[in-house]
Amino acid sequence: MKTLTATQKELSVYRYGDKRADGTREMKNLLGGKGANLAEMSRIGIPVPPGFTITTEVCTLYSQKGKGAVLKKIETEVKEAISAIEQTMGTTFGDPQNPLLLSVRSGARVSMPGMMDTVLNLGLNEHSLEGIISKTGNERFAWDSYRRFIQMYSGVVMGLKPETKQDLDPFEEIIDHLKDKRNIRHDTEFTVQDLKDLVYDFKDIVRKRTGKEFPADPWAQLWGAVFAVFNSWNGDRAVYYRKMNGYPEHWGTAVNVQAMVYGNMGTDSGTGVCFTRDAGTGQNKFNGEYLINAQGEDVVAGVRTPQQITRHGSEQWAALAQITEAERRENFPSLEELMPDIYKELFEYQQKLEAHYLDMQDMEFTIQQGKLWILQTRNGKRTGSAMVKIAMDMLREGSIDRETALLRIDPAKLEELLHPVFDPAAIKEAHIIAQGLPASPGAATGQIVFFADEAGKFKNSILVRVETSPEDLEGMHQARGFVTARGGMTSHAAVVARGMGKCCVSGAGALKIDYNNRILRVGDHEYHEGDWISINGTTGNILEGKVATREPELSGEFAELMELADGFARMKVRANADNPADARVARNFGARGIGLARTEHMFFEVDRIKAMREMILADTVKGRRQALKELLPMQQKDFEGIFRAMEGLPVTIRLLDPPLHEFVPHQLATQKELAEDLHISLDAVKSKVAELEEFNPMLGHRGCRLGNTYPEITEMQTRAILEAALTLKNEGITTRPEIMVPLVGTVEEFVQQKAIIDRTAAEVFRQRENSVEYSVGTMVEVPRAALLADKIAEHADFFSFGTNDLTQMTFGYSRDDSGKFLPIYLEKGILPADPFEKLDQEGVGQLVRLGTELGRRGRPGIKTGICGEHGGEPTSVEFCHRTGLDYVSCSPFRVPIARVAAAQAVLRD
Ligand code: PEP
Ligand code: MG
Repeated sequence: MKTLTATQKELSVYRYGDKRADGTREMKNLLGGKGANLAEMSRIGIPVPPGFTITTEVCTLYSQKGKGAVLKKIETEVKEAISAIEQTMGTTFGDPQNPLLLSVRSGARVSMPGMMDTVLNLGLNEHSLEGIISKTGNERFAWDSYRRFIQMYSGVVMGLKPETKQDLDPFEEIIDHLKDKRNIRHDTEFTVQDLKDLVYDFKDIVRKRTGKEFPADPWAQLWGAVFAVFNSWNGDRAVYYRKMNGYPEHWGTAVNVQAMVYGNMGTDSGTGVCFTRDAGTGQNKFNGEYLINAQGEDVVAGVRTPQQITRHGSEQWAALAQITEAERRENFPSLEELMPDIYKELFEYQQKLEAHYLDMQDMEFTIQQGKLWILQTRNGKRTGSAMVKIAMDMLREGSIDRETALLRIDPAKLEELLHPVFDPAAIKEAHIIAQGLPASPGAATGQIVFFADEAGKFKNSILVRVETSPEDLEGMHQARGFVTARGGMTSHAAVVARGMGKCCVSGAGALKIDYNNRILRVGDHEYHEGDWISINGTTGNILEGKVATREPELSGEFAELMELADGFARMKVRANADNPADARVARNFGARGIGLARTEHMFFEVDRIKAMREMILADTVKGRRQALKELLPMQQKDFEGIFRAMEGLPVTIRLLDPPLHEFVPHQLATQKELAEDLHISLDAVKSKVAELEEFNPMLGHRGCRLGNTYPEITEMQTRAILEAALTLKNEGITTRPEIMVPLVGTVEEFVQQKAIIDRTAAEVFRQRENSVEYSVGTMVEVPRAALLADKIAEHADFFSFGTNDLTQMTFGYSRDDSGKFLPIYLEKGILPADPFEKLDQEGVGQLVRLGTELGRRGRPGIKTGICGEHGGEPTSVEFCHRTGLDYVSCSPFRVPIARVAAAQAVLRD
């Protein structure tokens, strides 16, 4: 295929249309997702309105050098591209008789829905307006487009927006005022004169608020919009969204300029959004919504109730909305019924696009006077369960292979599938407040809030709105789920919810929301801010109060996916679990052992903390031994439970690690209690507590420094581990205990601990006249241990990288105090990510790599793993794979995530 632009020089402006294009889908970084897709669609014969894309490089140029440099570079190319559009459409930009109107949209390399601004109907002024009127014979439509354009342009380019959340949009205020005056309810009831009045009033308010005239020159309008899009890349919403997703600033956004097509040119026009599969459940069902005689934003804004595209979907919708079949056919027919030919064409395109992109597509279309235009297609956002189902279905259908199916999974999104679901029994009992659309599946319970920026008011909140908008995004992140009174399955709230994996019920028309008094009314019932409600995003039910939940069942496609992942992964995934219950959960999620059991957690339980404190307060070895004796059977029981849950699999148990002062009481009342329990004076307790106080507990008396100064602790713990293993052996249960020494920094620290462990083991085995195999290894979490790993490995059976401490000590950032500066560091770009969440591969990673290499030199084949928080974070898991670790260990709920990440690491290797 020939490109549109004749010259082969480097382009800043890429054209498409008329089944041809300069760009391809591979050029996302340069053209943005939207631009690349428009080019690709045009190439494969989809009818997209002609247009062009200004590249992301120009955005960067703009950030660095400003307007002048950009104009110099692209002005000629833009002018040429506009004439190409003019030719295809047979219209002229700015022409009073036959004007070309344009849309201007942002488009970064990844989709950032609602994050940046769009201007439609660009090119309209008092003169071109006349041309539109004479061309369409529809004066009302022309004036309506013009007033919409002024409204959008003034907001996006000239900054006329509501100033506070209580403020109304200045233009909406004028509209409402006119509606009151005219005693009408809908925009559609405005007369031509009303719309003219609106235009006049709009221009007036622009003049008053900005001190400038609304621009009439189409070229001035175009450049204003282009630079506004570039500016929006650094607007609050986009910056927040980028930060949330870790997208760097230098990506920039492209600008898409395209011929306008109109869905509001009468009853043979319309607009809609459709999905090749169900974005909520993943079912292979073409679905979507449309509105007759409307513009695209009407569907997304949720102002009118959209109709379903397919007849089947329409019938389902009517059942939920409690609308009779007769009424449905009369007032809300599907596109399939209303415009069968257009439907057939659309159906073919959706098949073609999914087959081309080999993934579920989210498409926007417009019907202009009986002609179908596809405005956009992209890989559709989907819930975690839809993600899994679609990938596994497409694998089964044979359209993608196993590797592709696996790489389709965003491991972090699997977490959604592990969220609780409503208990069916509790659901039956619950009172249904209202019924809405099942916009994003799942279960959520929380307290009502009415404003997104107040979602943080309660620990669990449900945001209840008439509709949501991009401004609400930050708050939506904090809410458990969303309810809207208006809008359909493709409303802002619904799309955002599915992207975030949150639960959403949209379009619950029975809800009357009173923002001023913060009251939700449904019939005679009133619900106030702070009242508990539950929402079922799978059925669309809104329920009163807190409805009980239970653990989800992980079967079907999820189980298939896990099996598929395990087939590829080289590394094993273990879990960090400190008690039998967590160990069982971990095993259900497919953990192949325990990589870290933090024994200290067992000591915090009520019945044990007393013995623990006795041990700590004892002044003599004898006193300590006495107290440890009490602890031994309790600890042994726990180990038995963990070993049982992990039958046959390795279990790494770490010896006591935290500074002792964490166990002593710091409040007077508890100190008094302790003094009484131990029959010692309050002063004695106080002075011991004071004695344990450290300036730098994280660098103080902790880790193996405890076992080396109080060997009896190591002895007791070793005994508890091995006695538990022997007890299970007698029951015929295989155990694979691995005893792990924490915070080792010198060879001798480890050697001496190991000697105690081996000596104690020999003693236990002699006493029980039986033995089990065990291994002794160390954590590598002090940088010095990584540097001397070869020497330590001569004595250690395994290494486990404790990357929490290793990060703390490599950066010198206290784990407990970094909250004070890390957020600022992230904001200022001093750090690209929180190193306690994402392993710092560049720095800390070097120590992991060095530790592994040296370790293998000291002991060929030494087993290596990671047990810091990073063990469940996908990019860190990939690093561990590349570094050659044998396993990663993470919290039970992240085990499935790590399993997929471990498999993907192999595929990306
Ligand atoms: C670590 O430091 O990475 C680790 C797993 O130990 P903890 O978090 O208990 O210090
Ligand atoms: Mg540690």
